[in-house]
Amino acid sequence: MSAMSDGTTIFAPASGFGRAAVAVIRISGPASPFLLGAMAGRLPPPRRLSLRTLRDPASGDVLDSALIVWMPGPATFTGEDMAELHLHGGLAVRSAVMAVLAAQAGCRLAEPGAFSRRAVENGRMDLTAAEGAADLIDAETDSQRRQALRQLDGVLGRKVADWRDRLIDLLAGAEAALDFSDEGDVDEAALDAALHVKARAIRDEIDVTLADARRGERLREGFVVVLSGPPNAGKSTLLNALSRRDAAIVSAIPGTTRDLIEIRCDLGGLPVIIVDTAGLRDTADPVESEGIRRTRKRMEQADLVLALRAGDYSTDEALPLPDRCILVSTKADLGSDGGGDIAVSALTGQGIERLLDFIEARAEAALGGGDALVTRERHRDGLTRCRDHLDRVLSGPALPELLAEDLRLAVRALGEVTGRVGVEDMLDRLFSGFCIGK
Ligand code: GDP
Repeated sequence: MSAMSDGTTIFAPASGFGRAAVAVIRISGPASPFLLGAMAGRLPPPRRLSLRTLRDPASGDVLDSALIVWMPGPATFTGEDMAELHLHGGLAVRSAVMAVLAAQAGCRLAEPGAFSRRAVENGRMDLTAAEGAADLIDAETDSQRRQALRQLDGVLGRKVADWRDRLIDLLAGAEAALDFSDEGDVDEAALDAALHVKARAIRDEIDVTLADARRGERLREGFVVVLSGPPNAGKSTLLNALSRRDAAIVSAIPGTTRDLIEIRCDLGGLPVIIVDTAGLRDTADPVESEGIRRTRKRMEQADLVLALRAGDYSTDEALPLPDRCILVSTKADLGSDGGGDIAVSALTGQGIERLLDFIEARAEAALGGGDALVTRERHRDGLTRCRDHLDRVLSGPALPELLAEDLRLAVRALGEVTGRVGVEDMLDRLFSGFCIGK
């Protein structure tokens, strides 16, 4: 069942869970004004912060002295009546207020993403804008923030809506031609030619957008750099040097790094995830074997692999290295030039800046350079399906019924991207990845 139709009023902390100066609790749904009025004595004037004493309506107990705001729908985030309580940000205050809210009839704690879901279902924003808002909350670097803001602003949503409108026009034309085709006064060849020109234009625009898709997705997810190499090559130490944090355990005993350790960093505004891996060596230790299995998996996803060696490469057997791989000679301070692409010493700092510059340049090449519209596999999938249906429309003479059906499916694929076509299980999955209170 959709969140909108169940008529409940939801609430959730919107300001995180830690101790803080202020904690904001959001309320949305038809009972919002009654709850607010009952707790604050009377309803404050709309859209203005008012300082009030909040009480438990049942017992009259004072809960907090808080700034509250009442926002009548439909011009609100969710499109419903909403309220916000700006409480003192202590755990006990928040718990007491939430317990009172939960005890009210028809009022319940919101599941993750529930506010955004209501906003989409009530037509306040499309699905891509809601995703943009979630991405903005997750944004860790400047480039991610800008991309999320563009999506929140509706850049992708408007583009998809425009393609969809144009396709609906074509579909209407194709269906009209179907209806009148028996009457013999329709120039079918001319109609087909006009339709093909318009469908091809849309197909080409979608192709241009799809060409940039991976870049937008990687910017959202981060550029993955994997450190690989035999035990004791200096992976953990290099990770710490690169991230300038003491994150991975460094030790002289081979096989210490048994699992993946990931560090997210900001290189020139780009999100880069550096992954330390368990040493790639044969082992009977099941924990270590699991680490190695994950290492191989992460290496397959890697945008860049730094293959670390302490010492001379020429004595190594050739590794089946992927092309996104560079050789890094470690422990350069020991005087053993490994003959790799870059020589570094985590101990003296030699080569570290150069290596960081190199990673940043690679990340810039993969993620930077323009504003990609597609930021999720979900978008890419919908646009690809639309494009495939248009390819079939363009592939030559087809029965008019089949042509109309392909146009209809193309329209539907776009509708799924913007959330116009509700696919409940997809929405369930999508919104469950959002924050509580968003
Ligand atoms: P890993 O098994 O590949 O993660 O290797 P570690 O980072 O744990 O390093 C193995 C050993 O090499 C440790 O004793 C480190 O202190 C030492 N080591 C790492 N980097 C350097 C370096 O740049 N110079 C020197 N001299 N020793 C290093």
